[in-house]
Amino acid sequence: MAKKGEARVIIHLACSECKERTYTTTKNKKNDPQRLELKKYCPRDRRHTVHREVK
Ligand SMILES: [Zn+2]
Repeated sequence: MAKKGEARVIIHLACSECKERTYTTTKNKKNDPQRLELKKYCPRDRRHTVHREVK
């Protein structure tokens, strides 16, 4: 059963250094109205970098 007023949306996370879209995740619009920034492992850079939400 789908919840009314579903606030979770699918987003993509792109590496801020090589711009590779490495991750897909979901976020709650109500909890995170701004762009998400997460430290994630980038396989291209082979280290952890800041990943930003992109459309
Ligand atoms: Zn990268």
